[in-house]
Amino acid sequence: MRNFHQAFDGGLWQALPRTGFQMYFGGRDLLGDRLKGHASHERMRKLAEVHPNGKPAPRRFDGTLTFDKLADVYLSGTMHDEDQPVHLVVADTSVCATKCREEYGNPCQHFCPASVYEMVADDTKPGALKLQINASNCVHCKTCDIADPYQIITWTTPEGGGGPNYKQL
Ligand code: SF4
Repeated sequence: MRNFHQAFDGGLWQALPRTGFQMYFGGRDLLGDRLKGHASHERMRKLAEVHPNGKPAPRRFDGTLTFDKLADVYLSGTMHDEDQPVHLVVADTSVCATKCREEYGNPCQHFCPASVYEMVADDTKPGALKLQINASNCVHCKTCDIADPYQIITWTTPEGGGGPNYKQL
């Protein structure tokens, strides 16, 4: 595993021979060993770079062939006490409403598989959005802690007894 992720830096076709080589040579890569890695959030690309002509169309789910996130949360059997202690700590939510909205389009809404993060209308400021955290949906994947481009989300250990019901999956 020490070199596997790095082999995909150059794309799938370059990665196939490299990862095949790694499997036969105890993890060593064609380009060397112990290749330099990077944190996932460092590769998050800005909205203007990915969609220079505007925002992408929202994804649509038909509820038959594809499931929306909330249906997935339901099927995972995720349960929490609604009043449990906060386990998702956002250091500065003003970043979400301003800088992150403009630069990255609030990617937490997209990378969170459980619709925990939502940008909703801020009633105190016309046209503004604010972050709403639906913590009871959390499936404890920790993606937000890793992928957040500003590294202001901290995932802490949740109260015991909650989360997905793995035995029923
Ligand atoms: Fe969403 Fe996973 Fe973060 Fe929970 S841990 S809020 S499910 S990204």
